[in-house]
Amino acid sequence: MSELHELSLKELAKALQNKTVSARETSEHFLARAKAHASLIAASNPFEQGSRGAQDASCGAFVSFNEAYTLKQADLSDQRIAKGQARALEGVPIAHKDIFVTKDFPTTAGSKMLEGYCSPFDASVVTQLEDAGMVNMGKLNCDEFAMGSSNENSAWGAVKNPWDTSRVAGGSSGGSAAAVALGLCPAATGTDTGGSIRQPASFCGITGIKPTYGRASRYGMIAYASSLDQAGPMAKSAEDCAMLLSAMCGPDPERDSTSLDTPKEDFTRSLGDDIKGLRIGIPKEFFSDGLHAEVRQAVELALKELVALGAQLVPIELPKTELSIPVYYILAPAEASSNLSRFDGVKFGFRAKEFKDLDEMYRKTRTEGFGQEVKKRIMIGTYVLSHGYYDAYYLQAQKIRRMIANDFQEAFKRCDVIAGPVTPQVAWKIGEQNTDPLANYLADIFTLPASLAGLPAMSVPCGFGAANMPVGLQMIGNYLKESQLLNVAHQFQLATDWHQRALGESQ
Ligand code: GLN
Repeated sequence: MSELHELSLKELAKALQNKTVSARETSEHFLARAKAHASLIAASNPFEQGSRGAQDASCGAFVSFNEAYTLKQADLSDQRIAKGQARALEGVPIAHKDIFVTKDFPTTAGSKMLEGYCSPFDASVVTQLEDAGMVNMGKLNCDEFAMGSSNENSAWGAVKNPWDTSRVAGGSSGGSAAAVALGLCPAATGTDTGGSIRQPASFCGITGIKPTYGRASRYGMIAYASSLDQAGPMAKSAEDCAMLLSAMCGPDPERDSTSLDTPKEDFTRSLGDDIKGLRIGIPKEFFSDGLHAEVRQAVELALKELVALGAQLVPIELPKTELSIPVYYILAPAEASSNLSRFDGVKFGFRAKEFKDLDEMYRKTRTEGFGQEVKKRIMIGTYVLSHGYYDAYYLQAQKIRRMIANDFQEAFKRCDVIAGPVTPQVAWKIGEQNTDPLANYLADIFTLPASLAGLPAMSVPCGFGAANMPVGLQMIGNYLKESQLLNVAHQFQLATDWHQRALGESQ
């Protein structure tokens, strides 16, 4: 048998149910791998380490473990398996982006502000995955409060890209992408507000899907921009993602008012449908001059492959693609400035040590607790919402957001799915874009439109670009069409082996 970390989720679940391997052995195997790679955990106070440009060659993906809890859960899975009561993913380990609150692990959202914070409850997504039998093996690094595209905005330090440790893993779910790529966990959760599942998945050569807004409950997912935030799985293949998504989605009306009233679904049900006659929309704006040549080449070859499988390409237009950047970078900070007002030194985590009165306590706590990028966005958000500017910025952005969503609906009259690149370039060098904040924002151009429209979208490995770094093919589906989207990706993965390349095997 292959090593446990080389198995697909389906194979691993089967091996567990057949008792070829026990849940305890499985958890021990992945914990040992993850611990061997974890650089920052051992530090007594990682937040004081100045860990940027980190100390050793490991990737810095994991930020906390609770081995006793993980192994206890694994033992419970073994007992269920012994009694013939195994659930779909019984005993399969999963690690969570550190933005999902968990009662048995600390939750920091990559911020000093939540230093030492432990939630009294679990996020709905965490509970749902546990209800499917999954074993929680730890928490994963991310950009502070999910703000970023490179995981460099984390108080824990940057996550390094497993394909080239001098490069970023992408963000904000960089820890999740790196951990899956390295086989430190068979699957991970991520969140995507403007691309944070798709972009790190593409940078690290793994598969990730952001479902339709409202599919997965946001309860217990620390809020960045509530009208955009959505949870999703990150794993080695579309099939793995389909299994995970089936477990993690479902209505949660009492705890998330934006949760959709659609019953739980089996997203694996269409895997296997053939894609003859499928119309794939190709937005011309996604192939503009800013797209790096090697990325374009990999994406175009992937589209050829889909044509060979029977799909047809339909030219479409998404004319407001460029506007999605200013629109997003008004709306997301506006919502963030409101959501982050709760971190005041009273209720959660960090509080400044010295202050003379309440005002100073708030000011110092927020000055010392938040990182640069978060403070920048709180200021932008406060400005765009302020009296006299609201109509000019926030309201205007909301109107264009609607037009962006309408453009997609126009396009979906002529095609079934939309395809293009995830990002204009491959993973850049750590530190390279820090001096130019706009460069980071511009790199989000292809992921923001689907987020603003609330559409399901995924990243699928489709080749290698500059410096032999992975490239992702983005596919966007219409509302609630995750099954179809996952099947197109699955068919592509049956015909190609990009998603199976081991680290270093880019040729
Ligand atoms: N890069 C985008 C941002 O910085 C998206 C982040 C996300 O999806 N959480 O806001």
